[in-house]
Amino acid sequence: MKKALKIIGIILIIIIVAISSIFIYDRATINNQYKIGEKNLLIPIIIYHDIVESKDEIQFDYMQTTFDTFKEQINGLIKYGYKPITYKDLIEYSKGEKAINKKSFIITFDDGYDGVYNYAYPFAVENNIPITSFLINNDVGTEGYYTWDEAREMDKSGFVSIYSHSMKHDDYDKYKPEDLLEDVNTSLSQIEEELGHSIEKVFTYPCGLYSEEGRKLLEENGIVQNFTDSKINQSNKLNIYGLHRMYALEDPAWKIILKIEYRHFRYGG
Ligand SMILES: [Zn+2]
Repeated sequence: MKKALKIIGIILIIIIVAISSIFIYDRATINNQYKIGEKNLLIPIIIYHDIVESKDEIQFDYMQTTFDTFKEQINGLIKYGYKPITYKDLIEYSKGEKAINKKSFIITFDDGYDGVYNYAYPFAVENNIPITSFLINNDVGTEGYYTWDEAREMDKSGFVSIYSHSMKHDDYDKYKPEDLLEDVNTSLSQIEEELGHSIEKVFTYPCGLYSEEGRKLLEENGIVQNFTDSKINQSNKLNIYGLHRMYALEDPAWKIILKIEYRHFRYGG
């Protein structure tokens, strides 16, 4: 009998310690900010293309997202404690100059469609959320894409960062590294000229197509690079010259979070 009581006592103590350590852990980490190296963080970068009003306008699930789905996804992630950050934040974090929230994420739009201007931009302003648009210089102002005036307006708001998705959306994995570098530099300097100020050097490969030689040359020139590979960034392996990005598709926020965790498990921790 005495022995049984002792065992129950030990089990109770273990349970109390386990529960209280969860609370202590939570109190120690909730709302905490970490500099690189302090803690292994997952930093998802989410890819969108165009935002549309209704489901009839969806041709491919990775290309068009309805405004309602987009709002649900972003509001949901924020509700679960995720905080949208900018590439500037990420670059400063990677240099150890800035701390970021333990659940940070980046919202990106490829190609420069007018859905970014019509839907994502007003939503970003209204909700105090930073977003990033990667434009194709030669497509700016053509049918379906926002104009330079609209780009300037979004940039001035302070909620939209505009970077390069190349001059002409080609298969850049087939380019000579020097030609890729020239294309990206031309694109970035034209954006700076149009916006009237300097920008961080950030580039996203069209269709995620890149060669290792090209990537290396851009890295040597200090150009932050984004892939489209459905992998997840981990702070202890963070390489801003080859950032991983994932699609949100039509997934609800909880499913996006499950995928973030799955990718952590799948691609190593
Ligand atoms: Zn693209």
